[in-house]
Formats: sequence, C-alpha cells, structure tokens
Amino acid sequence: MNAVNDGITIALSKGRIFEETLPLLAAAGIVPDENPERSRKLIIGTNRPDVRVVIVRASDTPTYVQYGAADLGIAGKDVLIEHSGTGLYQPLDLGIAKCRMSVAAPVGFDYARAVKSGARLRIATKYLNTAREHFAAKGVHVDLIKLYGSMELAPLVGLADAIVDLVSTGGTLRANNLVEVEEIMPISSRLVVNQAALKMKREILQPVIDAFAGAIG
Ligand code: ATP
Ligand code: MG
Repeated sequence: MNAVNDGITIALSKGRIFEETLPLLAAAGIVPDENPERSRKLIIGTNRPDVRVVIVRASDTPTYVQYGAADLGIAGKDVLIEHSGTGLYQPLDLGIAKCRMSVAAPVGFDYARAVKSGARLRIATKYLNTAREHFAAKGVHVDLIKLYGSMELAPLVGLADAIVDLVSTGGTLRANNLVEVEEIMPISSRLVVNQAALKMKREILQPVIDAFAGAIG
C-alpha cells in the first residue's frame, strides 16, 4: 500500500460542484493543488498528503463511492435518485448546487389541459426514474424518451411534448421558448460516503465529515 491508498480519495465533478465544494474542503483544512477547469488531470493532490481528489462525471460520482474507488463524494440529489446502487451512506445535505427538478413545455402548450384530458404525454429526459415516479403519482400516462443532454431541444423539434430537467434561473428555458409548468422537487448536493471506508478509515473521514457539517451551519 502506498501513502495514497492509506489516505482518502474524494470524488468531485468539475464545474459548480467543485467550485462550491472548495469552501467546505477549506473548512476541513483541505486545499486542492489544481483547478480541474484549468488542468486536465483527473487525480489532483491536495495540501494534505493523505487526501486526494478524483475528477469524475457528475452522474458517475455515486458509482465511484459505491465501489470504494473513492471514499467520499459529492453528488446532486438528481443523480442520487437515478443511481440504484447500495452501500452509500448519505450523512449530509450540503445545500450546494441548488436548483429544482421541473417539467417544462413550449410556450403555448397547455400542459394543465393536456394532463386533465388524460392524453398520453411524450416526455424527454435524462431522469427516467424521477420522471416515471412523478407522472405515476399524478396518474398521468407518459411515454418517456431517454436523452443524455440538451433536453430543451426535444419539444422544439417534435420529439416530445415536454421535458423533465433541472432549472435554476430559467435562462436556458427562456432562450428556447420553453416555460416551467410544474416543479417536481428541490435539488441540492449531498455528501456520499462509502460505508466500509467509514469503518476502516474513520480516523481520517470523520473529521472531514464533521468539518463539512460545521461549515454548512
Ligand atoms: P454536463 O452538463 O457536462 O452534461 P452534468 O449535467 O452531469 O454534465 P453539471 O451540469 O455540472 O453536470 O451538473 C452537476 C450537478 O450540479 C447536477 O447533478 C445537479 O445536481 C447540479 N446542477 C445542474 N444544473 C444546475 C443548475 N442549473 N443550477 C444549480 N445546480 C445545478
Ligand atoms: Mg449539465
């Protein structure tokens, strides 16, 4: 075992989660050596020899932590709902990367009326589980179309009637002549911890978790 394997690995995605996690890491006395926005490195050291950061795709964070390739990670509730794995301990809602999961439709599409009419709706989304549960709970019949990105395009070219996607300012929706017609749930990012690591590496992990908890108030 080298020094790194004796230490801990934190999985983060670049962009807003990395940026909004920096103050929490700082509260735990951890400062990454590089910013993944400017570096292409996927493994980033820190000021602490026993802590390293790995840069992963946001939707892959739970997978790295579940298999113990990372001891802890930070992932959006949107990602955690879609991830079906076990072995993840979720001790803290960090209140970062806040947005909401919503249904959006083209301006002029009468969503409320379509729902009331009992018509089958075509919904494009990358969040199949979230969308399925939402419409099932409302008793609305939907055909779900799985996409991997740029959901806003789907209703504009006749692929779907509406989308389920994350919204924060609504700017992207507006730019594409869409409106939010229903909020499904508020979204924020959570700390996820590998359960086995929490037992084996508690001496290093627990102070980090405690510092995060203190930093979010
Ligand atoms: P990509 O955008 O490259 O396809 P991604 O969508 O997986 O990747 P991000 O857009 O960086 O990654 O989103 C990462 C996480 O940040 C999401 O899982 C979500 O929890 C949160 N998030 C996404 N969009 C917003 C937003 N507009 N405002 C705040 N938080 C957001
Ligand atoms: Mg995105």
